[in-house]
Amino acid sequence: MAPELTVEEQAALTSGASLWQTKPIESAAIAALTLTDGPHGVRLAAGARDMLTGRKATCFPPAVATASTWDPSLLRRMGEALGDEARSMDVAVLLGPGINLKRSPLGGRDFEYFSEDPLLTGVLATEWVRGLQSRGVGASPKHFAVNSQETDRMRISADVDERTLREMYLRAFQRVVTRGRPWTVMAAYNKINGVYATQSRWLLTEVLRGEWGFDGLVMSDWGAVADRCAAVAAGLDLAMPGPADSGDAELVAAVRGGTLDPAVLATAAGRMLTLVERAASRRPGEFDVDAHHELAREIAGRAVVLLKNEGGLLPLREEGQSVAVLGEFARTPRYQGGGSSQITPTRLDDALTAITAATPAPVRFAPGYKVDGLRIRRSRAAGRDAGGRDAGGRGAGGPETAESLLAEAVDLAAASDVALVFAGSTGETEGVDRDSIELPAAHLELIERVAAVNPRTVVVLSNGAVVRTTPWDAAVPAVVEGWLLGQAGGSALADVLFGRVNPSGRLAETIPLRLADHPSYLDFPGENGHVRYGEGIHVGYRGFDAREQEVAYPFGFGLSYTTFEYGQASAEATSTGIDVRIPVTNTGARDGREVVQVYVSLPGSRVRRAPRELKAFASVAISVGQTVDVRLPIEREDLAYWDTRLGRWVVEGGEYHCAVGASSRDLRSTAVVDLAGDDARVPLTADSTIAEWFADPRGAELLAQAFAAATDSNVGRMFANPATLELLGSAPLNRIAAFPASPLTPEVLDKLVAAAA
Ligand code: BGC
Repeated sequence: MAPELTVEEQAALTSGASLWQTKPIESAAIAALTLTDGPHGVRLAAGARDMLTGRKATCFPPAVATASTWDPSLLRRMGEALGDEARSMDVAVLLGPGINLKRSPLGGRDFEYFSEDPLLTGVLATEWVRGLQSRGVGASPKHFAVNSQETDRMRISADVDERTLREMYLRAFQRVVTRGRPWTVMAAYNKINGVYATQSRWLLTEVLRGEWGFDGLVMSDWGAVADRCAAVAAGLDLAMPGPADSGDAELVAAVRGGTLDPAVLATAAGRMLTLVERAASRRPGEFDVDAHHELAREIAGRAVVLLKNEGGLLPLREEGQSVAVLGEFARTPRYQGGGSSQITPTRLDDALTAITAATPAPVRFAPGYKVDGLRIRRSRAAGRDAGGRDAGGRGAGGPETAESLLAEAVDLAAASDVALVFAGSTGETEGVDRDSIELPAAHLELIERVAAVNPRTVVVLSNGAVVRTTPWDAAVPAVVEGWLLGQAGGSALADVLFGRVNPSGRLAETIPLRLADHPSYLDFPGENGHVRYGEGIHVGYRGFDAREQEVAYPFGFGLSYTTFEYGQASAEATSTGIDVRIPVTNTGARDGREVVQVYVSLPGSRVRRAPRELKAFASVAISVGQTVDVRLPIEREDLAYWDTRLGRWVVEGGEYHCAVGASSRDLRSTAVVDLAGDDARVPLTADSTIAEWFADPRGAELLAQAFAAATDSNVGRMFANPATLELLGSAPLNRIAAFPASPLTPEVLDKLVAAAA
């Protein structure tokens, strides 16, 4: 590719011109492209040196919220809307979606990522990519790969075993790449098992291109390239940002000096040209600011998770009861996190205004607490403006003391029919991990004191990753998890509180009873440049289930204002996997939406597995009294485990239990289906054990013959006895050869191995 370009021009093409632009080559009519963040809005910088502010754009709900919808069609529509906004600003590639797995609730960017489950992440992110790219704008799934923490993010080595890598940390990328076909992928800052992602030939070339067939461009995260030549040799096509002249010159010198294959550089430059060609197809356009705000509101409403609703306190009646709205977040919403994804919204709805508009009854407000600026300062020190602005500019200072703010709120609660307490976390941001999942002390105190004076207290949470809900949730009848909901979140919360939207959000991450219960707890965030992924495949609910631990609210959980009854599940093996079906009836008094989930297990599997894994789900609208026959196809490849002996995916044969229900711990009906497995025969060798030989039909026959032919020897007699066989089952055959008068002489062994092949 690009034969007409000089080596210098090729090198120039493979690094950025500025923070957000690639280099044009005018002599060859190659245009510069604009690449910009980010996953839940288009943050087009005001100028070439502008790092963190942007022109106004719709701030859609961040991934923590969109994941809670469990609805791929919403992600698709959001992708399309983002595409329209990107086109209107002449953006060629939008830097998202963020699809790293949520390994720990402390992850500073958990709000930008979808879930602790790779299937949920992969399905939703694929639709985001399809929606965006349908508008002629490229996606850049990030951060490839294993970028699940912020601590030491530019150097840390994520040390992960291969099965865990494949099944958990690469799986969503694999799905998005093979099905969404993104134009680009963004390589992460961190190292994986000691090698920088940007310099990993295994990751960028063997796996991404070789195994998954990726035909797009790999760009670096901003500043992620430590060694430009090593990165290009590994398969990295574009180093961002720029200008990086010294790096370009290094590449040219390496080609001239014979240490970098000229074809490798030409290929990287060629991929840049392909991207320029792809981007040329997009047409400029306008977007409808109001329609996008409405879409942001719809998605936000669908993302809200009702955690608790004793006595049907919610939805609130529109008339006849006075409402106390308490907590600064009701007036000054937390609606996105800090860092590169931070959007300057076109509008901003706050819950206080929306609630006041929703009811003719008296609505009175007290701030209750001041917004804590501590974490915001910390993250600024770490090099990013944390976006504390959205957490409220009303920081420290002012005439009110904490105690007077609290007293005012408690008085108001006592004098009102219903108390809505807005609480949450104060500053999730890129660049820093959290150090706790506790709510701020002032918020906890507000909840406790209000609950003590008003039995009709509803807590509404705003947070980018889970916060601890115990023990305070026991003291209140209703809890609404409102995540970070984007610019229309305030209206969306009012929609849910007053029942204009019947909540159907479900947890995409487990809420533990306490941080120390979390599977990642002992190995997060690592030390001395390494973080050990010690829990292996048991990420999130897989780990809680494997250790039979109680949780506060399980993965997949969420209440509705109506009730659903599940019938009998059925499952049928098909040529493409398993077809699960179940009738679900709306038995309550309101139309609603149920998220039907299928968790699969394979009792007796030859490898260690989580007790259950999400393998299919569907968000289904069901009206009052209606029964919907919900079909949940499971794809065969999603049932595969990564076999480390064979170095490939294997679907094991056996009886798969498909448990269908409303959450990972509310399984209503199970269907069992027998599935034929893949051929996963591992060649028998002299180093294979006696048990392995006997486990293989051909090997068993050969070995039995060999022992039968030697019953006159001690060893032969020994093996004719089943008890001894058990005792020596773990011995490799070639060790038996060392026993005196063993019938397994080296010659016999050779013959056995040859015959077994
Ligand atoms: C972030 C990326 C982002 C890039 C450009 C990096 O710090 O990790 O997610 O796309 O900056 O802003």
